[in-house]
Amino acid sequence: MMAQYLALKEQAADCLLFYRMGDFFELFFDDAKVAAATLDIALTARGEHDGEKVAMCGVPAHSAESYLARLIKAGHRVAIADQVETPEEAKRRGGSKALVERAIVRVVTAGTLTEEALLDARAANWCVAIGEAAGEIAVAAADISTGRFEVCGTSAAGLASELARLNPAEVIASDATAFAEAATTLRPKAEFDSGKGEERLKRLHGVATLDGYGQFSRAALAACGGLVAYLDHTAKGSLPFLRPPLITDMGATMAIDAATRESLELTVSTAGSRKGSLLDAADRTVTGAGARMLAQDIAAPLMERSAIEARLALVQRFHDDAGLRETTRSALRALPDIGRAIGRLAAGRGAPRDLGQLRDGLEGAWMLGEKLAAIADVPPLLADLAPRLRGHGALIDLMKRALVPDPPIDTDKGGYIAEGYDAALDDLRATGAGGRRAIAALEARYREQTGINALKVRHNNVLGYHVEVPSKHADALMAPDSGFTHRQTLAGVVRFNSPKLHETATKVTQAGAHALAAEAAHLEDLIATALETREAIAATADALARIDVAAGLAERAAEGGWIRPGLVDHACFEVEGGRHPVVEAALHKTGERFVANDCKLSEDSRLWLVTGPNMGGKSTFLRQNALIAVLAQAGSYVPASSVTLGLVDRLFSRVGASDNLARGRSTFMVEMVETAAILAQAGPQSFVILDEVGRGTSTYDGLAIAWAVVEAIHEENRCRCLFATHYHELTRLAERCDALSLHHVRAREWKGDLVLLHEVSDGPADRSYGLDVARLAGLPKSALARAKAVLAKLEAGREKTGGIAAGLDDLPLFAAAAEQEEEEADALRTELETLDVDALSPREALDTLYRLKALA
Ligand code: ADP
Repeated sequence: MMAQYLALKEQAADCLLFYRMGDFFELFFDDAKVAAATLDIALTARGEHDGEKVAMCGVPAHSAESYLARLIKAGHRVAIADQVETPEEAKRRGGSKALVERAIVRVVTAGTLTEEALLDARAANWCVAIGEAAGEIAVAAADISTGRFEVCGTSAAGLASELARLNPAEVIASDATAFAEAATTLRPKAEFDSGKGEERLKRLHGVATLDGYGQFSRAALAACGGLVAYLDHTAKGSLPFLRPPLITDMGATMAIDAATRESLELTVSTAGSRKGSLLDAADRTVTGAGARMLAQDIAAPLMERSAIEARLALVQRFHDDAGLRETTRSALRALPDIGRAIGRLAAGRGAPRDLGQLRDGLEGAWMLGEKLAAIADVPPLLADLAPRLRGHGALIDLMKRALVPDPPIDTDKGGYIAEGYDAALDDLRATGAGGRRAIAALEARYREQTGINALKVRHNNVLGYHVEVPSKHADALMAPDSGFTHRQTLAGVVRFNSPKLHETATKVTQAGAHALAAEAAHLEDLIATALETREAIAATADALARIDVAAGLAERAAEGGWIRPGLVDHACFEVEGGRHPVVEAALHKTGERFVANDCKLSEDSRLWLVTGPNMGGKSTFLRQNALIAVLAQAGSYVPASSVTLGLVDRLFSRVGASDNLARGRSTFMVEMVETAAILAQAGPQSFVILDEVGRGTSTYDGLAIAWAVVEAIHEENRCRCLFATHYHELTRLAERCDALSLHHVRAREWKGDLVLLHEVSDGPADRSYGLDVARLAGLPKSALARAKAVLAKLEAGREKTGGIAAGLDDLPLFAAAAEQEEEEADALRTELETLDVDALSPREALDTLYRLKALA
């Protein structure tokens, strides 16, 4: 056995090996230690190997799922080695001592789950592969729980944001890649070959050419191929359901890098949970599939105006018609998750219950489709979706006839095929039932015959049907002519058999076994029939999800007074009465009111510099505007009283270093790397929010950097930008940057207390209120008094010298400065280019060096 175990373990070196022994999965050696610690179960020892005790632990096979879930969550991979023959087969093959043959039947990893119990119903579960070819990079992503399959070309710089958008459960890459991170699963390079990838895709979808799916780059083929090979590897040959790959175009969605996603808390909050994120604040969907689709929408806001308007029109239809919204939502609420059900069936892990879910889900979809077809003013998107809701009549009919109302998960006991579906099966069941009645009659007859009222006919797995009497009555049945044969004596009872009982019982058992086999055959047929239309079923699931998303957003809008944003082609950003959905909800709980604020950016007034006291609401204001852009382009209503938005192609959000301290990063460096990325990438259609950039270093450095960044954004990037700062000195930039305007969050002193009004007004803040905030925060009186004295000294000094920004007004403008530097560099270059080195004497060479040095 140990030899067999070690051979299997060698095939799955990077996994914990679940080794099937009877009713348990056992783990040995280090696997056992790891699993016992993670699962908090007993670690024991068994036998010896190489003179050492073998560590061991085990989990019951019937409840293995919950243990698997915990191991996967803890970041492990598990290989399942199951028995692939029965003990009887093993004996027939190799004699009484023969070992039952085992093989790895599946590798369970975070990215390849389909089980309901192991998945979050409201989140997609992406397994992502990175492919490289011909100097390009592509990312392929599959959610095998629903069959979704996407591929997207990207770049070395864009890879991180693409991965951040998908938030994958598992990432795989070639073992020769330069793009692996710590958690990446490495696979052989050969599996990422683009030529083989193409073959694999064609075979998977049974097509001769991929042209029908769109244009694949070599990198895309490499990524898809690597992914399919990996899924094949984990499923050990029975490849799960994948729809044809959807080629997503990078330019089709708003580019949002990983740092921005994190800082805006789009789908995950800083604390790492869904709670507190924009997604959570916007989500009123009633189905898991709807929640998954909304998460994708928010993670990838659209760039195409017509597509956004189509989504918005659907939201509006549900928004304006509360009755329709409510009937739609209550219809959806009752529907099972057919996308995941078909995923499980296709992965070969389906149960009768999944078919039942398909039947109920598809029937519900049909009825909803009927309702929606009857309404007036059907928006175009709904007109597209509605036919997909009503396409499975024959399948629904079949499953309604074939299945009982509530089919079980387990197939062991049968009973899932409905009566009347198969006459032969009904006969077998009748025989079984008749037999069971006959056995009951036999029991009565034996009681009468023996006069033992406590006599019972019982059934267990070892003896089958038998007669049981209390020990004190056993003698009567022990008599040789009693018609009973003794089988077993236990503490209080004695068990017997009789020829008549045996005969009837055999009939019952046989009929039962045949009925089970007949049901299993029907199940297989039904699954095969359902899978024939799995593409169409997945499309129905998507249509339901899209409707749920729209109705949910409409519900959210109605609840929170959100409005439909207007989209335009020029780079404006006009928000009236904007609110931050997450902060507003949090304040609402404590009974406080959120102060709505306007934000008006346009091509010639594209940069707002926002000053004001700490805690005054600067960050909130910046973020709420970024979130409004995300929601609008995701096709949602937005929390404001009016919005006109020119589409944002790239969104950036950066927060000055000290806010990130809690996350334990090397802060200032990170802040600068991220700021550099913005200056390199933001263009005229982009939207940037910068919160206290420059704060992570000394005052002089910080001011200098903030100054330069504002100038660069104004002159070079020319994007829409909100810049919050406590460097009051930056307000001087208003004089030299004509598209920059000054704004502040208002505060007032009232009876010696600072009142933060959270109101954004025009013009610079009158002062910084730092000490007032310190007092609000409870700094001791003595420290406050001392701070006041120090401040007075500093301010007196500033007046004398003009402060830290003295002389800044004399700086040449950003563009002029850059030009001057370029000119100087050019003089040097011209000189170098005209230099004939071979013609120089040593003396002339030295002189030339001095001259060049002077130019540098
Ligand atoms: P700053 O960036 O200026 O330090 P924040 O934006 O972090 O300030 O806001 C501080 C707190 O003030 C928030 O946590 C919130 O409770 C409250 N706040 C911010 N903006 C508003 C607003 N518009 N209406 C009501 N309360 C607000």
